[in-house]
Amino acid sequence: MTSISSVPAVELNDGNSIPQLGFGVFQVPDDQAYDAVTEALKVGYRSIDTARIYDNESGTGRAIADSGVAREDLFVTTKLWNDDQGYDETLRAFDASLDRLGLDYLDLYLVHWPVAAKGRYLDSFRAFQQLKRDGRVRSIGVSNFTADNLTRLVDAVGETPVLNQIELHPGFSQAHLRAVHADLGIVTEAWSPLGQGTMLANETIRAVADAHGRTPAQVILRWHVQLGNVVIPKSVTPERIASNIDVFDFALTADDMAALASLDRTDGRIGPDPDTFG
Ligand code: NDP
Repeated sequence: MTSISSVPAVELNDGNSIPQLGFGVFQVPDDQAYDAVTEALKVGYRSIDTARIYDNESGTGRAIADSGVAREDLFVTTKLWNDDQGYDETLRAFDASLDRLGLDYLDLYLVHWPVAAKGRYLDSFRAFQQLKRDGRVRSIGVSNFTADNLTRLVDAVGETPVLNQIELHPGFSQAHLRAVHADLGIVTEAWSPLGQGTMLANETIRAVADAHGRTPAQVILRWHVQLGNVVIPKSVTPERIASNIDVFDFALTADDMAALASLDRTDGRIGPDPDTFG
């Protein structure tokens, strides 16, 4: 069984750190989230990624409480939904999320989408800064922010988000935004790291997997790890939950990395466009 010690920690720009591989629960109903998170914690995951809009903070929180894993060994992330943006609204939404999770502090709070047209992400992030000063959240970051959104935020609030959680998989590998993150000292966290499963039948990936005696999912997750991404694959299937974290005892070659990089497509996005969503 994979143990926590085999998942490296990635340092954040505020001095905290996040496990490089965690567990996502998007599109998992609350009861099933309880079972999936319970399984994930059992096989060694220590980072869990949920969101207010997933409607499974309660099941996630119950699984955490029942797991017996010490709170200080866990890294729990949730996200501020678009309708809750604004300073006071954010403070209220945070209280409600923390309550559903049954926690007394959060490790990471993310602005889920910029919704730039509504112009409220700066006030939302200022509320995040207050929550951090109050000791209620350890680290604050964003999700689905473009390079323009990031520079505007940093200029306006004088603080750099610790990470930006963005759509990223071999079919949409976001080289430009990753370079912007590196310049700004922002960690890249990949959502839909497996392309929601769509990348798993790809022939190039299958060939690399066969060469290493690994599954396509393990090869994709290993590619993320070697790029330096933080990654949060989702599964409700126990054997997949276990195998997805088992990627720290092999390495892809430079040729393998290049083969996966060649799958990038400018139109490879499978989720919404952050410039227009919300
Ligand atoms: P993933 O890329 O993690 O893919 C999940 C899909 O792949 C599921 O259908 C799962 O099936 C399948 N799968 C997982 N592992 C394997 C495996 N080893 N072999 C075969 N199939 C596999 O998609 P997500 O969209 O869920 O992204 C991961 C996480 O990212 C989310 O859960 C969420 O936490 C976050 N996210 C954040 C967003 C944002 O806007 N910030 C947007 C989208 C996601 P099954 O479950 O049936 O096993």
